[in-house]
Amino acid sequence: MRWNNINPAVDAFTGGPVLGDQFKCQKCGSIYGRESVNQLVANNLGRCISCEAQSVLLDINEEDNT
Ligand SMILES: [Zn+2]
Repeated sequence: MRWNNINPAVDAFTGGPVLGDQFKCQKCGSIYGRESVNQLVANNLGRCISCEAQSVLLDINEEDNT
């Protein structure tokens, strides 16, 4: 399912578009880019900024478009 072609992913941390790899909170569905995930891991114990669930940020990059 190419949902990301339907709705441009918005980074829940920065509020900007997610470019490149995308990560999704399993609990609340917030989307993060890799840099935001790094920031959450470094500064927020890897917790989702929205629901504060921990260790639910999944790499949702199932395939390359190449
Ligand atoms: Zn969440």
